[in-house]
Amino acid sequence: MNKTVLITGSTSGIGLGIANQFAKEGYAIMFHGLEKNGAEIAKEVGERYKVKVAFSNANLLQAEAIEGLVEETIKTFGALHVLVNNAGIQFVSPIEDFPNKKYENIIAINMNAVFYASKAVWKQMKKQKFGRIINVSSVHGIRASEFKSAYVTAKHGVIGMTKVLALEGAAFNITCNAICPGYVKTPLVIGQIKDQAKAHHMTEEEVVEKVMLKKQAVKQFVPLEAITDMAILLAKDSSTTITGSSFVLDGGWSAQ
Ligand code: NAD
Repeated sequence: MNKTVLITGSTSGIGLGIANQFAKEGYAIMFHGLEKNGAEIAKEVGERYKVKVAFSNANLLQAEAIEGLVEETIKTFGALHVLVNNAGIQFVSPIEDFPNKKYENIIAINMNAVFYASKAVWKQMKKQKFGRIINVSSVHGIRASEFKSAYVTAKHGVIGMTKVLALEGAAFNITCNAICPGYVKTPLVIGQIKDQAKAHHMTEEEVVEKVMLKKQAVKQFVPLEAITDMAILLAKDSSTTITGSSFVLDGGWSAQ
């Protein structure tokens, strides 16, 4: 039987890249995200790689919607082998002006949703004696940058949760790991380039060079393929002892 993967936020950016790679490997895929053309994106990938797909636009701000998303995945495909907790949002502001609602939503989508989704898949993965949970954290899960209080808090939290789930899953062949990228050029980052150009009175090129990639030793955006290859590796049967770890793909940022 081909394996099944649920990837949150897979109708854009990193999640879509991961979905394409899993499709290439023959996985059935539950696509998920708020993009209006999500269903078409899912269908197109399914046709290209001849794999089963479905799509949900469950709102990760609601625990019940997340539980429903997991239930729907298991009902549609009859199993759920890999969960990629990828969806995330960003907002950048000095703490004194940071809107409470933005803080709460970042914590809810980037961190709490990881808890609700992992909790919801647990019973099925235990029953299968197989589960791979892959959390897309960030270099901001192990390092801080100013003006990102909510994001850095959420991403650090995800790394803590990753370790706990690794311990709880060990007896059941459920692994849990985090991938921690530096900057990847996706819609989330393109939005930040524009915001930061305004905030720093710089051109967009200057923001990329002097602000974003300042902390990376390798002055390039992290290629999507590096992340998708890592996700495929972590999902393998043979990766059963790779658990509780954070894999940093940050162009040398955290080596300093
Ligand atoms: P993106 O904006 O391209 O995609 C985010 C996805 O999350 C979208 O599909 C969106 O619809 C979904 N989403 C957002 N809010 C949601 C909600 N309330 N309910 C349901 N879905 C929701 O972003 P991306 O750059 O691909 O980021 C993906 C993940 O990678 C995030 O967790 C992000 O923090 C992390 N990350 C990104 C970078 C980077 O440089 N792009 C670096 C490190 C970590």
